Amino acid sequence: MSGKRVLVTGAAGFLGSHLCDRFIAEGCEVVGMDNLITGDLKNIEHLFPSKSFTFFNHDVSNFVHVSGPLDYILHFASPASPIDYLKIPIQTLKVGSLGTHNLLGLAKAKNARILVASTSEIYGDPEEHPQKETYWGNVNPIGPRGVYDEAKRFQEAMTMAYHRFHGLETRIVRIFNTYGPRMRLNDGRVLPAFIGQALRGEDFTVFGDGSQTRSFCYVDDLVEGIFRLLKSDFSEPVNLGNPDEITIREFADEIIRLTGAKTKIVYRDLPHDDPKKRRPDITLAKKVLDWTPKVHRSEGLEKTLAYFKSLDRDELYKKEHKHFDKFIKR
Ligand code: UDP
Repeated sequence: MSGKRVLVTGAAGFLGSHLCDRFIAEGCEVVGMDNLITGDLKNIEHLFPSKSFTFFNHDVSNFVHVSGPLDYILHFASPASPIDYLKIPIQTLKVGSLGTHNLLGLAKAKNARILVASTSEIYGDPEEHPQKETYWGNVNPIGPRGVYDEAKRFQEAMTMAYHRFHGLETRIVRIFNTYGPRMRLNDGRVLPAFIGQALRGEDFTVFGDGSQTRSFCYVDDLVEGIFRLLKSDFSEPVNLGNPDEITIREFADEIIRLTGAKTKIVYRDLPHDDPKKRRPDITLAKKVLDWTPKVHRSEGLEKTLAYFKSLDRDELYKKEHKHFDKFIKR
């Protein structure tokens, strides 16, 4: 891997920034790209002094030009939280579809291997449990989450078409709920929501009755899995996530214990099309990548809490992400 040149899209985001760190640590030259709608330069500013890192502020839904050779492309640019899809639905659709097409074209032109970030959302509100890669999903195309789910489903179809028709080396990772440092505190997802509420002394908002389940994977485990998938010769989609499943109500209790918060739980309406259960079947990842997640939730949550505690107070009380403003029609 050392000496390879890698393009990471969504480089200033949660997963993208951790991937940049990993490839720099492996001795690669990394080209990061992000339009900073949901990403934040703070996540990668520590890389700016490195000669092995360059950054372009660019929206990959428009034609992507990178000069020089590329060995690998990792397409991680996309809004990724349900409230983001509601606020920027068209951008979400475009980056998963047009953005993916642009990057597949770039990979073909550079003769590079491309890995695209897909998602457990392609399974929708699943009728099969746990979810195996062979399951085709139960997605509402016109619901509020459809903009993300269908863009990612199109992304998978387009990626397989480039693989089959052009012989491009492609990899598809289906990412299940992942957490860790550099998540946006106010991105609306359950873990930053609960930790933010704990740190501000607010009540915990549990949506629905809290009986819906999720399975949370620590970011370091996920990055290791992605790294192994990129190096593998496996071109079909692979689930990566931690199969340790928990209800959202139990998760709230866990974070209350962890933070020592003296807050109560309040119940709010369940968002439209919120999946009732989610747990990855990772048999395939074990087999083809020899990968299993190693970080227990108690350890991962400690590290994540330490990160959120290290943020300054302004960040803790900032309700909205500044970059959305220009995209919201008034
Ligand atoms: N959730 C919640 N309270 C919050 C935010 C989320 O109860 O303040 C629930 C949400 O309804 C869902 C689960 O937590 O059932 C995970 O939501 P998240 O937005 O993190 O991601 P998802 O897995 O739904 O994409």
